Amino acid sequence: KRVTHVIGETKIMAIINQKGGVGKSTTAVNLSAALGELNKAVLLVDLDPQGNATSGLGVDKSQIAHDVYDVLLDDVSVMDAIVPDVSEGLDLLPATINLAGAEVELVNEMARENRLKNAIGALRGKYDYIFIDCPPSLGLLTINALVASDKLLIPIQCEFYALEGVTKLLDSMKRVKGMLNPSLDIFGVVLTMYDGRTTLAREVANEVRRFFGKVVFDTMIPRTVKLSEAPSYGQPITEYDPKGKGAEAYINMAKEVISRG
Ligand code: ADP
Repeated sequence: KRVTHVIGETKIMAIINQKGGVGKSTTAVNLSAALGELNKAVLLVDLDPQGNATSGLGVDKSQIAHDVYDVLLDDVSVMDAIVPDVSEGLDLLPATINLAGAEVELVNEMARENRLKNAIGALRGKYDYIFIDCPPSLGLLTINALVASDKLLIPIQCEFYALEGVTKLLDSMKRVKGMLNPSLDIFGVVLTMYDGRTTLAREVANEVRRFFGKVVFDTMIPRTVKLSEAPSYGQPITEYDPKGKGAEAYINMAKEVISRG
């Protein structure tokens, strides 16, 4: 099934939190796939040198002709690097370990903060959504994501210290907003790995809702084993366990994303 609708305005969003292990890649892969299931045309840009979104979507890194590094630093056309149809309605701009060098190599390049924006700007009108899975740092790759994005989507894990580091992230957003990308803002905050049986998770969820207000999605992503297993099968949850709680949550989140416009 190919996307047949007319594509409106492309929304480019960074999935960002400089903490590792909070559910960025899991959300990037499964939200993208869920929107694809809902007939949206989606591109996922893997901007994390670990390449977890790439392998989680079943793309063999040793078979990749060009990755996002080549697009950022070697003037390879983004169209030559995109892997089409990794799931229904979903294309991928993959990452390999090459990207680990980019953080250092970008420093001496012209327009170093604008590389990703220039590369994916040409894709506006081709996709409904472009998501960028960011690395767990606030370095130049993340700055590139902040410059290239219209809005931010912040996953927050329901654990102790959930909001730790958020101030730094918001400071980086404000700096990029002030100097390079005036319309940058938070699109949404999603609570991940939620286990409603624990008091801690409920308290953290309430604290995050108090802090961020209405940008927090109603949908919370439950902690489920299936969500942690799916990447090793190279499948998004909508394929690996389409009837389970994880798929249901990401589909519900996707519907909220669509209804926020
Ligand atoms: P990040 O991209 O922020 O580093 P990941 O998405 O890779 O975080 O998630 C960190 C770990 O937690 C991974 O092993 C992942 O499979 C697991 N995980 C993420 N979300 C869930 C969830 N909702 N339920 C269970 N395990 C999860």
